[in-house]
Amino acid sequence: MTNEQEERDPKQFRDYSMNLKSNRLASFQDWPFDANCNCTPEKMAEAGFYHCPTEQEPDLVRCYMCYKELDGWEPHDEPREEHKSHSSGCAFLSVKKSETDLTIEEYFRLEGQRQQNRLMKIVQAKCKEFRSQAEKTRDEMEQLA
Ligand SMILES: [Zn+2]
Repeated sequence: MTNEQEERDPKQFRDYSMNLKSNRLASFQDWPFDANCNCTPEKMAEAGFYHCPTEQEPDLVRCYMCYKELDGWEPHDEPREEHKSHSSGCAFLSVKKSETDLTIEEYFRLEGQRQQNRLMKIVQAKCKEFRSQAEKTRDEMEQLA
């Protein structure tokens, strides 16, 4: 996720409310798979994902906790298993109870982890942007020589 994407797509701000399964489920209105598939909106939301489609990636989903993005879903894919195999360290996957059974302490521990993950994504995007700008500037300087 880059800052540019955030500026382009105000829907990014939905991230904040996606810690609730009901909000994640509501994001799957244009989900391209039907109820006969394994990757139903219910299972996707249950696995921590919400739908954030782009023109090129109509089945793009993002985990509200680790911000891992996955697309290219197959009808037989098991959302929780896919989540595990692509982001095994995600704190959401280590929670063994439903969100309504979390204690306040557990809830805030998860929120802290989520904000930490979010900051890391922003920092990584900024570093990438900086490196690319530095490369461009170096090229321009070499042209002057
Ligand atoms: Zn995750």
